Amino acid sequence: MSVTRYGATIEELAALLAEWGEPPYRARQVWDGLYGRRAPLDELTDVGRPLRARLAEGLPLALAPRHTSSADDGETLKWLWAGGDGASVETVLMRYPGRATVCVSTQAGCAMGCTFCATGQAGFERHLTPGEIVEQVARAQHDCPQQRVGNVVFMGMGEPLANYDATWAAVVRLHDDFGISARHLTVSTVGVVPGMRRLATERLPVTLAVSLHAPDDALRDELVPLNRRYPLAEVLAAAREYLAASGRRLSFEYAMIGGVNDAPAQADALARRLRGFSPAAHVNLIPLNPTPGFGAPASPPRRVAAFAERLRQGGVGATVRRNRGTEIDAACGQLRTRHGLGDDSSRSAPVTMGQRRGGS
Ligand code: SAH
Ligand code: SF4
Repeated sequence: MSVTRYGATIEELAALLAEWGEPPYRARQVWDGLYGRRAPLDELTDVGRPLRARLAEGLPLALAPRHTSSADDGETLKWLWAGGDGASVETVLMRYPGRATVCVSTQAGCAMGCTFCATGQAGFERHLTPGEIVEQVARAQHDCPQQRVGNVVFMGMGEPLANYDATWAAVVRLHDDFGISARHLTVSTVGVVPGMRRLATERLPVTLAVSLHAPDDALRDELVPLNRRYPLAEVLAAAREYLAASGRRLSFEYAMIGGVNDAPAQADALARRLRGFSPAAHVNLIPLNPTPGFGAPASPPRRVAAFAERLRQGGVGATVRRNRGTEIDAACGQLRTRHGLGDDSSRSAPVTMGQRRGGS
């Protein structure tokens, strides 16, 4: 298999160019265009048309667009891509005044099986490669030339820490070559404890987001099957370790599910568990993207606001996030399901997945 455009290392690029008899400075020139300027290949005018044509073939893109849509007056864009083998990959771009955030997938599907999540319900397809992860950012940037993508959140399809090596290779490439600071790279995990521990040993202090969704093990066991393997106390201990090692802030994600995890007593219980993290941690409350395949509805806005207030009274910072692009299923997993991909009719009805939002 040939190397792909955003999967190739600079050494591989240099070797390819040398094979074609190009002068040594070419590799750096192409690299600077693709990464430094974040330009699509056909805009590298300093490279010359024949070589660009050769590169287009010799260094192909890994993802083919299958479907694109936009919402929020064009401020939210979503892509459904097909990998070379047809695997479904979703990417969302969210533009805000002064910044743009890309939400990338790290796997086609996900094996974690969270009950409220579209991706979890559709099951696991395969891991993405570092090149496929990085390419999502590059291609989103190409379609958003007016603004520099300054944040990347690993909150699309898949569990990043279950595809650790590829995720980390992508983090390094985005940091070193695209120049995105570690603070603006956010890895979201459902609580893969060994991965969280390993993250604490890495050289780049990326921002960590931990998806909690419940204040106690009994409820979390139901919503997040992985909790049976890594219960809350262990997940929180690993989060604390990461905090100590990285010196970064931490965020906790909490999908607000009506009548399931949004009661005042649950806010109190959550505040008790998280108080020790303050002020270095923060809870993001995300109204559930409700789905036909998951019975419960989203919490009503007033209930979400009350939950947030209760957390604050309990000494824990909380923010209510708004779902971006609901009308285009700008939530990973959902677009794929709507297009009948990677799903089979024996499974329950399609579900949404709630990603959205700006980086931390
Ligand atoms: N697997 C990782 C990252 C991808 S999911 C994780 O679970 O953290 C990104 C975020 O979207 C997680 O916080 C996840 O719980 C949330 N999410 C998934 N389905 C959702 C839904 N239907 N409504 C709201 N949030 C959802
Ligand atoms: Fe996987 Fe995250 Fe969805 Fe859970 S919420 S199934 S970990 S993508």
